[in-house]
Order: sequence, then C-alpha cells, then structure tokens
Amino acid sequence: MMNDNAQNLRQSDLAHYMHPFTDTEALGKEGGARIITRAEGAHIWDISGNKILDGMAGLWCVNIGYGRKELADAAARQMNTLPYYNSFFKTATVPSIELAEQLAARTPAGLNHVFYANSGSEANDTIVRMVRYYWELEGEAQRQIIIGRNHGYHGSTSVTASLSGPHMHGQGGVPLPGFSHIAAPYLFGADTELDAEAFGIQAAQALEERILELGADKVAAFIGEPVQGSGGMIVPPASYWGKIQRICKKYGVLLIADEVITGFGRTGKWFASELYDIKPDLMTLAKGLSSGYLPISAVIVGDRVANTIIHKGSEFVHGFTYSGHPVSCAVALENIRIIADEGLVENAATVGDYLQTRLRDLKDHPLVGEVRGIGLLGAIELVQSKSPRRFFETKGEVGTRCRDHCFANSLVMRAVRDTMIISPPLMFSKAHVDELLEKARKALDSTWADLCANKIE
Ligand code: PMP
Repeated sequence: MMNDNAQNLRQSDLAHYMHPFTDTEALGKEGGARIITRAEGAHIWDISGNKILDGMAGLWCVNIGYGRKELADAAARQMNTLPYYNSFFKTATVPSIELAEQLAARTPAGLNHVFYANSGSEANDTIVRMVRYYWELEGEAQRQIIIGRNHGYHGSTSVTASLSGPHMHGQGGVPLPGFSHIAAPYLFGADTELDAEAFGIQAAQALEERILELGADKVAAFIGEPVQGSGGMIVPPASYWGKIQRICKKYGVLLIADEVITGFGRTGKWFASELYDIKPDLMTLAKGLSSGYLPISAVIVGDRVANTIIHKGSEFVHGFTYSGHPVSCAVALENIRIIADEGLVENAATVGDYLQTRLRDLKDHPLVGEVRGIGLLGAIELVQSKSPRRFFETKGEVGTRCRDHCFANSLVMRAVRDTMIISPPLMFSKAHVDELLEKARKALDSTWADLCANKIE
C-alpha cells in the first residue's frame, strides 16, 4: 500500500511539479524524487521509512532541529489571535515589532533597523533597491554598481542571480546591468604559492582594483557572505575581511554582509560578522531566523543608511504583502528564544570544533584533497589527484555520485561541484558527528570503488 502510494506520488510529482534547481527529465530517468515525510531532531524519514541523518539542516536552515512543538504552538497561538495583518499604511503587529527589537539587540552594534521580507532572495533584492535609493538621496545617483564575488550566492530573482557569481548567470536574461564580480578568497582552488595570510590580502585587493577600474564614484556597495556557502563552502583567510573593510571605507562603498547561512549560530557565534569583526552597513538574514519552520527574512539596516532613508528620504516605495507576517515573526521569536535559552550557539562552537577535528581524519582518504570548515560548517573537497593537486575534469559528477552514496548510507550531504558540504542542525551532538563521519567515509569508499571500476564517466 505504502509503496503504491509512493509510486503514485512520484509519478504525479514528475507530471506536475517543477522542482527548483532540478533537471526534471534526468530526475524521471533516475526513478523520481525522494519523498520526505517526517522529521525529528537531526533525522528525516522518507516515504519508504528510511531514517536519514540530515547533515544539511534542510537547506542550511533548520538550526534548532526538527520537531520543536514550541514553534508549532507559537504559530497556532498567533494564527488564533491575528493570522495576518500588514505593516503598510501606518500599521504594525505586536510580533513584528518585538522581533525587530530583538534583531536590533542581537545583531552587531550600529545595526538598529529591520526591513522584513520572506526569503533571502527578497531581502537581497530589497537591499539592492535600498542601497541605490540611499545614494540617490546622498546626491550620488550615479553610484549604481554593486560588486559581488565568483561563487557568491545571493538568491534566484533576476536581481539576486545577477548579484550572485557567474555560475548563476546565462539563463533568462541574467545578469542584469549594474553588477560586477571579483574572485573569491578560495585558496584551495587558486593556482598560487602564497600562504593563507598573503592570499587573503591579495584576494581582497581585487576589490580595490575593481573599484578603481569602474570608478569609485560609480560603485554603490560590495556584498559578500562572510563564509561562502552554496558556492562551495569557502572559508576566507583571517586577513581577508579586515582588508575588504579598509577598502570599502577608503572609497565610501557600502558593505553588505549576507548572513543568510552564517547567521544565528552556524559558525559558533550569533553572526559571522562577530567572528571576522565585520561592521557591515547592511546585513541579510533568513534561514536560521525561523529555523525554516516558516518563511521569513530580514534586512538589518545600519545607522548610516537608515538615517539617510528616514531623514532625507520620503516614502521607500517597496514592500511585500507578507513583510513582517505576524505568524512568521511569532515563530522567529520563539526560535530565537530556543537558540538563546538552550545555548545552541555555544553548542555549535563546541560540537563544531569536534566536527572540524573529526573531518581531518578523512584526509587520509585517496579522494580527499582538502577538508575545511568553521563551526558547524564543513566541506570535503574531492580531487582526482592529491599531489600534484588536480581537480576532476568531469566537474560535479564525482560529487553527485558521492551524494547518491550518502543517501544510500542514510546521510544527507550536499555536493557543490566535487565538494561535499556539511551544515547540520545546531543541536547536533558529538554522537551525531560520529554517525555522520562513519556514513561519510562509507560513501567516500563507495565513490572511490566506482572510480576504480571506471563506473563514473
Ligand atoms: N543568500 C545566501 C547566502 C544564501 O545561501 C541563500 C540561499 N541558499 C540566499 C541568499 C537566498 O535565499 P532564499 O533561497 O531564501 O531566497
């Protein structure tokens, strides 16, 4: 019965459901989608009853873990009191005000205003309009260009795909004009003899070169994820962000920290801006803000931009029906309470250290060129040859095969090109890390066996 049902659902899925970031035809040939039916703690279950360790916290978002009834209760309470009201036209709701106050208090000093949206993409889209409006109000309307980075990911709308790196460009008229990209601080991927410190400075220097090339009077802002996530988990050298900030300051360029992944404890601090001593003018938050239980995102606006928009501007002609949705805000408030009361940020730091140590054990594996990470973010980069270091020419195929072996071993790890990514819930224990590493090694062994048997073209 269960199997019939699964089969019917899979067929229906293939017939009607266009999945994000999916080759539907290929999915059909591979037997259709894996259907997830329930979850608890750090584990998910599929429709066939397989229990799978979620090494990705959904899509880097279920920070508190699955199954927290308190969030369901908070949503039900708010739905029974006020299921919806907007924040347009001189109105607000209690949870949207309380959450704004919390966010202003928890984020680094100087970030005191909140603009709500529903996704990371919408928040970054908002930032692009806000930043350009800021420069218009400052009498420098020609400052339009926003500089991002290769391997950056800031969303999938036309604007935010343009902000993202070239891997997001090419389809559907993207990139739009007004965006520019510099290299990422990706040491392992670079052909360089420099040590990490010198490489970090050189990578940041690329920003100054680009600003001068474009003309400082044309550059509105620089955007970066403190640690690049979906572009391949790129952890910058310690020297990088300091230099980036000095350059932004020198040319008056606004600095945007996209903390959609790194926010709410992922790196062992509430925000990675604290970790790298970044003082952003604007910060993007989503994912961990509600642990993914409901959609919500926020732009945290620093005093420099907020003061101009509030005092020099008039109406900011921007907003969404669901900006500051009271149910999402109530859920986010409860989520933040749990993160704080249960010490999940501290747990991410402690268990994160353990994860980083255990990851290093994988270095002896013939496929593993590098392991890297910070807090509860980890990456295992697979290479064709360790010394001399050579990447696979069939970019992504080995990673995809390894991801499939992970699933077969009841583990979710994501593959970005040939890098395996780990970003588990922050309630992960050391025992969870051990379970993850054991399954990951099995998946690596099976991938290696496939390669040795020439089963990967
Ligand atoms: N910024 C970053 C850093 C992200 O990782 C993501 C999503 N992975 C986004 C923005 C876009 O968020 P959303 O998918 O909610 O639009």
